[in-house]
Amino acid sequence: MNKAVFCDRDGTLIEERDYLSRPEQVKILAGTGRALRSLQDAGFFLFIVSNQSGVGRGYFTMEDVERVNRHMLSELAREKVDFKKIYIAPEAPESPSRGRKPSPQFLFDARDEFNVDLSHSYMIGDKLIDLECGWKAGVKSSILVRTGYGAECERASQGKLSQAIVVDDLAAAAERILRGEPVR
Ligand SMILES: [Mg+2]
Repeated sequence: MNKAVFCDRDGTLIEERDYLSRPEQVKILAGTGRALRSLQDAGFFLFIVSNQSGVGRGYFTMEDVERVNRHMLSELAREKVDFKKIYIAPEAPESPSRGRKPSPQFLFDARDEFNVDLSHSYMIGDKLIDLECGWKAGVKSSILVRTGYGAECERASQGKLSQAIVVDDLAAAAERILRGEPVR
């Protein structure tokens, strides 16, 4: 079976921008490419799990989301980072959705399609819904990064973070994961 790291996109891999919809708004957070590469080299499958309610709200289209993703992937490809799959929940918060976080559904989908052992996998994000998604899926740890909304979440969610690992950014999250993981 395979182990995986599931990453939120906005505020975790790239700078948080309200309803980001254009490639030129994408700013990859410092150290992200190298951190993802180190996880990949240690044998982790990489996935992105992202809520994009701006689609459901009519602010932008799924095509815009894909254009942003392609741009981000081409930047990260310079460091030879390769995501197995990107899961997007485009629905508005009040609409029915199969995978909108905190639903763990996309992690179950990855488990089934890529033979992922969730109990040896991790979820990284900047909001409580990201952590909850990981917990509901039964990951080894959910990790809160202080980038994006993370620092705000840390202040607002005291008492709900006892099971979470809280670190400054994705690079620190990768370090924490790799401590104790053999590197190929
Ligand atoms: Mg986020």
